[in-house]
Amino acid sequence: MRIQVDQLKRRLHQPEYTGENRCIPCTSVNIALAAVASVAVSIFSTPAGIAVAGLSATIIYFRGYLVPGTPTLTKRYFPDRVLRWFDKTLRTTVDTTLDTEDQLHSVGVIEEANGDLSLTDSFESQWTSTITRVKENPEAHLAAELGYSDAEIRDRGNACVVVDDGHEVARLPSRAALVADLAAVRLLQDRTKNWTQLSDSEQEQMLTGLRIFLDECPICSGTPTFIENLVESCCRSRSVISYKCGECDARLAEVEA
Ligand SMILES: [Zn+2]
Repeated sequence: MRIQVDQLKRRLHQPEYTGENRCIPCTSVNIALAAVASVAVSIFSTPAGIAVAGLSATIIYFRGYLVPGTPTLTKRYFPDRVLRWFDKTLRTTVDTTLDTEDQLHSVGVIEEANGDLSLTDSFESQWTSTITRVKENPEAHLAAELGYSDAEIRDRGNACVVVDDGHEVARLPSRAALVADLAAVRLLQDRTKNWTQLSDSEQEQMLTGLRIFLDECPICSGTPTFIENLVESCCRSRSVISYKCGECDARLAEVEA
């Protein structure tokens, strides 16, 4: 019996719609539909209504949705602003207390030249040489810079995830972005009096802002460019501007257009 249950779980389980990929709008729509169905059935038979509720909950838990085609239906019929409200993956909230460009400018990381912003020579040479070292062994730098002594770096589809002691501690758009950040952390800390007092999101914002100034991909030395594309998530599409390596396709930074 135990084996059969495990087999059933495996067959039902749809990792692309559950766990960290679970879509909140789709799950909510299906829970609402399941509730309506359970109430309707229980008008005729209470045990049958309870059975429908239990079965629906199990299916939504394992499959991410109950009604086939939900992602398409949700995309078509839910207004975009409702979906945006649900969408936890959007992390473009601008922290008004911190202007990234001003900060990077004030710590001598970027400068204005010929009406354009670019890295200062001193920061660029330090960053480039640190990137070369970090690239060889990013795990060692995760331990040295951030204290993650047991960290593992996993490339997961559209993201690069750092797992330490079984917990996800960082998620970046690519391994190239991780290498760039690991190389920049100490350099920024050395130049910023209050680096350790900044919140995680403020630090992340500065590191992401900095990646846009990379002239070379940290992994393959290819040339990055800005590309605008339409990203299809489970039930909505949105326009995203990516700063992407032209050689290996690594995404260095991403902002919603
Ligand atoms: Zn590359």
